[in-house]
Amino acid sequence: MDEISKRTFLAAGLAATLPLSARAAEPGRKLGYAILGLGYYATKIIMPRFAECEHSKLVALVSGTPEKLKTFGEQYGVPESHRYSYETFDKIADNPDVDIVYVITPNSLHRVFTERAAKAGKHVMCEKPMATTSADAEAMIAACKKAGRKLMIGYRSRFQAHNIEAIKLIREGAIGPVRAISADAGFTIGDPTQWRLDKARSGGGSLMDIGIYSLNAARYLTGEEPVAINAFTSTDHSDVRFKTVEDIVSFQLLFPSGATANCYSAYSANFNRYRATGPKGFVDLDPATNYEGQSMRVRLNGQTSSREPAPQAKNQFSAQLDHLSECILTGREPIVPGEEGLKDMRLIEAIYRAAREGRTIKV
Ligand code: NAD
Repeated sequence: MDEISKRTFLAAGLAATLPLSARAAEPGRKLGYAILGLGYYATKIIMPRFAECEHSKLVALVSGTPEKLKTFGEQYGVPESHRYSYETFDKIADNPDVDIVYVITPNSLHRVFTERAAKAGKHVMCEKPMATTSADAEAMIAACKKAGRKLMIGYRSRFQAHNIEAIKLIREGAIGPVRAISADAGFTIGDPTQWRLDKARSGGGSLMDIGIYSLNAARYLTGEEPVAINAFTSTDHSDVRFKTVEDIVSFQLLFPSGATANCYSAYSANFNRYRATGPKGFVDLDPATNYEGQSMRVRLNGQTSSREPAPQAKNQFSAQLDHLSECILTGREPIVPGEEGLKDMRLIEAIYRAAREGRTIKV
């Protein structure tokens, strides 16, 4: 494992609860977030969660739609001076209240807004998938490095109690060395006109959007990086939804320890679960990476039972927001930095290649 992976996996169980050991100059200061892109995930899931944050607050909005700026500005008490269009966004450089820009747009725009935010001197939280190509992901990392700003990817499951518990159990050796992972993520997609089904804006189909959860889980459960990949896709291109992107991707990963993962990604089937199995038992989450309702079953010492993890101080969304703020305040690196997103992007490209070329791809 490289250094970032090591740190990432070691920190996994602690991520949501780390104290602010070396607080920056202004104790108790909450860092200011600008939310960029006021769509479903931003407005319905993320923005309401600032209420439970300890170290983060919502201070600015960026949108291409003036009505949304007005509605959400009034709802969250964001003054007009802190509301930006995509055209005026670069002026955010002059707003000292904004520490972090959280990019929650269609995937193809992640790069350009991350680069503009970094250039404006802001730290960046960017949604998954980090970009539509690994080249874009590399450029985003370089832009933030050049600006001396942090870049974190919105891998919220790393802050979710059941996922933290699963990683902890595995690292403690409860099931012995992981031998097999199965991870399935999919939903039935609707509206054929949405950006997710337009490759130019999404970068790809179910794998980019939802299969990335299976891929990322296989990596954080094993704590290893795959060395070989097999894959095939199945898509009915006569279905109006699948003119430019894929539906099902079935892929297999081989890890250096000899563990393997069997993963599904789909836009035409509903599942969200994973299981890690070793010689001494298994850890099973179903659902695994949903917004809520995670449920865990374990087989340990010959007994199968449900298990409720130790409660986390915060829900996964608030914990994710606060993690970046804490990292900025204390000078640490996030457990899911840009480099973590880049790894998934490179693997996604390898999965597509394995499917396209019908052969095992060594990575
Ligand atoms: P959405 O369609 O609901 O919102 C996208 C927003 O971007 C809209 O406000 C839209 O107006 C704006 N936008 C700007 N330029 C656009 C363009 N050219 N085409 C279309 N919309 C444009 O999408 P969403 O579900 O909120 O997803 C946004 C991002 O968040 C995606 O990267 C997605 O993968 C990610 N996401 C993450 C999670 C998670 O659990 N981590 C969940 C949902 C979405």
